[in-house]
Amino acid sequence: MGRHTGAVCRLCRREKDKLYLKGDRCYSDKCGVTRRTYPPGDHGQGRTKFSEFGQQLREKQKARRIYGVMERQFRRYFKEADRRKGVTGEILLQLLESRLDNIVYRMGMGRSRAEARQLINHGHFQVNGRKVDIASYLTRVGDIVAVRENSRNKPVFKQIAEDREQQGVVDWLDMNHEKLEGKVVRLPQRDEIDVPVTEHLIVELYSR
Ligand code: SF4
Repeated sequence: MGRHTGAVCRLCRREKDKLYLKGDRCYSDKCGVTRRTYPPGDHGQGRTKFSEFGQQLREKQKARRIYGVMERQFRRYFKEADRRKGVTGEILLQLLESRLDNIVYRMGMGRSRAEARQLINHGHFQVNGRKVDIASYLTRVGDIVAVRENSRNKPVFKQIAEDREQQGVVDWLDMNHEKLEGKVVRLPQRDEIDVPVTEHLIVELYSR
């Protein structure tokens, strides 16, 4: 799958918002958005007003960047959300939250979604006892995500465990810190998803 390989702080600056793409640095005063509050590039300090379409596009790009999802896959999530009964925007966010890389991040086992994705790709995680190395794997309610036994003593997980307090674990995951595993007990409600996205604008964009 393709992915963004450039400087990630530019993505936050483009959205003029903290998207927390870099882990520890995002919580420090080295954060790119804090240091430079204007968008990157030659015209970054130029026009700041967006058309209706422009606003919708920015919200979609912001959501894609937060969750690290490429356009085609993001559209697939939207189609699936649109097919299901309920509020499309909320279901879209619930689908994104159900991705394995996000679950690992929410468990505090990665300091950013990018780090969680890398740890999954390297085969350190299992779902319901079976190794899964696909970051986009969609978990379901009842699934148990855990660090695989052979990986538990790796220094990276010890370090992450020490840093975990900064992040906190969400209520919809039941964590067993000793076993480094978490159970998805339910889907998150919208007010439990702390991403700065106005999802109805994304729905409007794709409904054009
Ligand atoms: Fe975004 Fe984190 Fe970079 Fe700040 S440090 S601009 S929150 S990726």
